[in-house]
Amino acid sequence: MALEDAETQVDTALNTGDPRGLSFENVFSGVPSFLRRQLRTDAQDAQLAILGLPFDQAVTNRPGARFGPRAIRDASLLMAGDPPFGWDYDVLSSCSIVDCGDVAYDYGVPEDFANHAQQRVSEILGAGAAPLILGGDHSASLPVLRACAKFHGPLAIIQIDAHTDTWPVSEKERMCHGTFLARAVREGLIDTNRSILVGIRTQCPDNCGIKIITAPECHTITPNVLAERIRARVGVGPAYLSFDIDGLDPAFAPGTGTPVMGGLVPQQALGVLRALAGIPLVGADVMEVCPPYDTSGITALAGAQIGLELLGLLGWSRGGPGTLPQPTT
Ligand code: MN
Ligand code: MN
Repeated sequence: MALEDAETQVDTALNTGDPRGLSFENVFSGVPSFLRRQLRTDAQDAQLAILGLPFDQAVTNRPGARFGPRAIRDASLLMAGDPPFGWDYDVLSSCSIVDCGDVAYDYGVPEDFANHAQQRVSEILGAGAAPLILGGDHSASLPVLRACAKFHGPLAIIQIDAHTDTWPVSEKERMCHGTFLARAVREGLIDTNRSILVGIRTQCPDNCGIKIITAPECHTITPNVLAERIRARVGVGPAYLSFDIDGLDPAFAPGTGTPVMGGLVPQQALGVLRALAGIPLVGADVMEVCPPYDTSGITALAGAQIGLELLGLLGWSRGGPGTLPQPTT
């Protein structure tokens, strides 16, 4: 394949027979799957699978993250034609990766969304693939964690975020993107002793016993040192990486529901993710991209780039030098 193949290559998301390889389709046209990966409803024989969670009915402030998966896919097309920069291997060519589309649900029955999402993620895991989730507000990560923990056992969570999302859960079981991690901990999905929150710059009365590295701390150390601290915390058991796009500074990610100044700059985020290569990731997500508040598409661009880096990490666990932890069941 070469650049001139753009003349004949049309809708590779639908027509490619090989879930590996680079795309030479024109960036500006065609069916926009994430990074032009093959669009399929199932993840059979795939190593990695993308799934969109277009849900934003649990936000505290600005809605619109339901449009996140679509905007991230659109922005990703610019990155589908070259081996990813900053990696010793090309995950797009090394790993079989499919895009399983979005979770469907009745927007008039939002309380059913979590079950639909958990079911789809469970199917991906059951097919032997690791999920990369495109959100969606952060509450949508909860059913993903339920599915992954059921499959792999309690997870270390590495969460990059301005917020801890550990606000106390009331007896009413409030559904909110600021409580999802507290709920996950209470449900026993998270191994808090191996978990870490990175980039935090808001107050919360309870961190559920999860270690925090604040944004100001991140700014005093290099991405490599930050990665070493994360690696030391996470250890060797199964881990899940959740990237709330508001972990980045609003200068680079204005399109999000609850922006907070003083966040990570892109070189910190990219540096720490690439330096984490080899951690035993079983799943990952990029959440809270909110296109209605995005300026010139830069937040979607950030979401797509983070998604590509997360594929690099997941692929390293699957087909690279590392191996994915075996399911506990
Ligand atoms: Mn946040
Ligand atoms: Mn969050």
